Amino acid sequence: MADVTIDNLTKRFGSIVATNEISLDIADGELVVLVGPSGCGKTTTLRSIAGLETPTSGTITFDDADVTDRSPQDRDISMVFQDLALYPHMTAAENIAFPLHADGQQVTGTIDENVEEVARATNCDGFLEKQVSDLSGGQRQRIALARALVREPEVFLMDEPFSDLDELLKRQLRAEVMRIQKERGITMIHVTHDQEEAMTMGDRLVVMNDGEIAQIGDPDTVYSEPSNLFVAMFIGSPQINRFDCVVAGDGVLESGDLRFELPVEDAEALAGATGEEVALCVRPRHLTWSEDPDDGALAVPVTVIVTEQIGTEDIVRCETEDGVEVTAVVPANTLEFGEEGYLVFDPDHLHLFDGYDDSAERLN
Ligand code: ATP
Repeated sequence: MADVTIDNLTKRFGSIVATNEISLDIADGELVVLVGPSGCGKTTTLRSIAGLETPTSGTITFDDADVTDRSPQDRDISMVFQDLALYPHMTAAENIAFPLHADGQQVTGTIDENVEEVARATNCDGFLEKQVSDLSGGQRQRIALARALVREPEVFLMDEPFSDLDELLKRQLRAEVMRIQKERGITMIHVTHDQEEAMTMGDRLVVMNDGEIAQIGDPDTVYSEPSNLFVAMFIGSPQINRFDCVVAGDGVLESGDLRFELPVEDAEALAGATGEEVALCVRPRHLTWSEDPDDGALAVPVTVIVTEQIGTEDIVRCETEDGVEVTAVVPANTLEFGEEGYLVFDPDHLHLFDGYDDSAERLN
């Protein structure tokens, strides 16, 4: 397997800038997930790595070889893309075996053995002899995955390969792909708009927004230390709570009628910023309910407007007197519609950003 280097990749379609000077190093054997909202440039980045798009500028290197001008066939990649490109009149087994018949392809064991092994891993073994045209969307997706996994390419690319599958199958296949990827040490680049999928699968996430990289990091870091307001708002479910504030004095933020006195370390990050706009964010898991918070606690008075039970927890949507929505995750069945109280912020998990735009940078 190869490592992959993307250096200053820009791709324009007429006046649209799909990717803007993206640079990224992917290590040999690493599973990197490109994640971001629709239209942020994920597929264009992947298609450029595959050789299906010609960059406007920038280079792509596999190990030490510059492959920017090589055709897809000369890059030794496997891909599973949104359109599966299966051969409808061949059987599932023939589709899976197809790449093994290519010129110069080296495999260990017979073609049938390889097909059977990968079919078992991807849950295709029950319909190997059926024609692809007779299979469901989910079954076709699994065949496309098996076909891509059957040989050992330098780089493995996946664009939303689980989109047509039901929740259970999606989880099973994700786990299988991750197992196969780790066992074989595959360099894998996976595209999804589903941030939960990204958090589960990626060794590292590349969060993209508007053709640019908003943050690169392992899932824990991206979740607990988002480097800008866009990443804070995009990663995490339920979505992070956000208060657009003005610095009113030493470590004091005001947002409408709400007033927040920050812990010392966070206050230090705002030194000299009186009068500036700052977004204060806190994740729903870092709020607790109280009827009577301690003096000096960071807390907002709210009324419960919706509760939604998810297993042993409730997602509780609340509202302040000014109509600002605040979401908390609390143990199930502890709160009811209309209940009044306070949501108290965990002082160790506050996120401060230097403004209200997506690009506002982390301050603490
Ligand atoms: P999605 O999750 O919806 O697939 P994405 O993050 O993969 O989105 P891209 O498909 O890379 O985003 O598109 C990035 C931008 O480039 C979008 O504005 C898109 O409309 C534009 N774009 C992509 N391909 C083309 C093309 N062939 N011609 C013109 N514009 C394109």
